[in-house]
Amino acid sequence: MTIFSRIVAGEIPSYKCAENEHFYAFLDINPLAKGHTLVIPKREVDYIFDLTDQELADMQVFAKHVAIAIKKVLPCIKVGQAVLGLEVPHAHIHLVPMQSEGDLNFANPKKQFTPEEMQQTADAIRAAYDSAL
Ligand code: 5GP
Repeated sequence: MTIFSRIVAGEIPSYKCAENEHFYAFLDINPLAKGHTLVIPKREVDYIFDLTDQELADMQVFAKHVAIAIKKVLPCIKVGQAVLGLEVPHAHIHLVPMQSEGDLNFANPKKQFTPEEMQQTADAIRAAYDSAL
């Protein structure tokens, strides 16, 4: 079981931003920016391009609606998207609120926020996501 499957199962806590039957979104614990969110399929698949065509399409649409919610509640020019997957063997899309191109550089030092700030951020994204359903 991957660490992300354990998050979906509730065995490991996460700052949940959105969820539906097949996908889950939560704040990255080592964020590049406030609101940096990971979108994952509940089905455990390592490499994103091993998802079925339908799963990948559905995951991208889910990520779109999470990105819309992020942009509603956090100051940013756009929400950038990236796929790396070199650390955790469970497919995921990074959504990062950007003020400039450099904000999507994964070599940047990671930001630190208090648990209260992380909770408030996740709650705000989740409220914006849920209100658009
Ligand atoms: P990647 O696999 O795309 O290179 O990076 C994995 C990402 O997952 C990293 O940005 C890392 O901070 C994040 N991450 C790793 N473990 C956890 C975890 O237990 N909880 C959360 N919320 N994020 C994690």
